[in-house]
Amino acid sequence: MLITKAPKGTQDLLAEDTHRWHFIEDAMRTVCALFGYREVRMPTFEHTELFTRSVGDTTDIVQKEMYTFLDKGGRSVTLKPEGTAGVARAFVEHGLYAKPLPQKMYYLYSPVFRYERPQAGRLREHHQFGIEVFGAASPTADAEVIALALNVLSRLGLGKMQAHINSIGCPECRPEYQRKLRVYYGDHRERMCPICSERYERNPLRLLDCKAEGCRALVDGAPSVLDSLCESCADHFGRLKEYLQSLGIDYIVDPRIVRGLDYYTRTVFEIIATEIGAQSTVCGGGRYDGLISEVGGPPTPGIGFGMGMERLLMLMEKRGVEAPDPGLLDVFVVALGEPARLEAVRTVGGLREAGIRADLDHAERSAKAQFKFADRLGCRFTVVIGEDELSAGTVRLREMARSREQCIPADALMNTLRKALEEPYE
Ligand code: ATP
Ligand code: MG
Repeated sequence: MLITKAPKGTQDLLAEDTHRWHFIEDAMRTVCALFGYREVRMPTFEHTELFTRSVGDTTDIVQKEMYTFLDKGGRSVTLKPEGTAGVARAFVEHGLYAKPLPQKMYYLYSPVFRYERPQAGRLREHHQFGIEVFGAASPTADAEVIALALNVLSRLGLGKMQAHINSIGCPECRPEYQRKLRVYYGDHRERMCPICSERYERNPLRLLDCKAEGCRALVDGAPSVLDSLCESCADHFGRLKEYLQSLGIDYIVDPRIVRGLDYYTRTVFEIIATEIGAQSTVCGGGRYDGLISEVGGPPTPGIGFGMGMERLLMLMEKRGVEAPDPGLLDVFVVALGEPARLEAVRTVGGLREAGIRADLDHAERSAKAQFKFADRLGCRFTVVIGEDELSAGTVRLREMARSREQCIPADALMNTLRKALEEPYE
């Protein structure tokens, strides 16, 4: 049955896994705050033209991967295939360029849609954490953006990871490099895969990104973009490396990193973790000095990255990094008989108001079944209210793991529980 199966390449997030997402989101928020970034939220779909203009109509994303459709009003819209274009559009639309620059922002849990062949680490709907800095031309910003990404990863317990960095030049020096690449590849046309033949014509830089067996050797022998940088691009890259060193950041210069979107200029970088398989790029980003003018704003330099949340979670699992699980409840209130149930409703209401996570039976179960249920929920305490307790104005408080039970006055419950919950739970 089609309706009981989620579409290919999508994932459900079920309740028992949500704490993992909260854990990484918390780390992202904390680090962004430390670096002076504020959260933004953009729509899930945009006018198709925004992506063809910014991402570029020779890229894989625009040519093959977009979820594009006509809405009922006959407009072509596209579910966002990446996060930057929408933020850039908003930057222009709201005139943020007139505010003090740079404007530094991040987005979290942004859904991204790409029609790709689903496989491990490659979904049709995935989620990205990303940051954007608009109005910062200095390589100090490039170093900051890379540092922020690595900071998030180390805060998550992934240790010190490496950044792979490169510079792909600017509109001044890139044409010359593209010419050199065409000359080089022109001599090897018969060895190129069909996709590369097309790239050769339309987007030669992307030749370096080919993963096909036969093309790898060609990539290895290709001229390095770093030998073609103009003076100011070379200076920018040199300073970036100095700043990274001063931050104690481990980096590798990799002249084959080009990134899949057209808007990048100068710095591009990736953070790679081969243990999660072929889809090993956890984070990719770079500088996009031409983007804001491309989407209709005043020339404004910018830089940012996107980090794949699902790939990050895969990496944490591979490395045995566990997100702390706060559990569901602190206390479950068991009621024996109808008068006690009324008291249980009141008690649970009071506990919740006092900030203690509490629940009771909503299925009118027997006492035994209520205990069993409380046990399965994994809550630390149960409170038992029966007829005897009701008439004596007491409750029985039981710590599940220790099978320790005490009878206490009902009005002492809140304080006793609060104190008990402060003790660590082994
Ligand atoms: P790849 O080379 O793996 O296709 P990309 O260059 O297309 O990646 P970006 O557009 O830079 O990726 O997206 C930023 C990050 O989002 C990637 O580094 C990756 O972690 C994640 N990502 C990209 N595409 C997918 C996908 N289809 N499924 C899951 N995560 C993805
Ligand atoms: Mg891709």
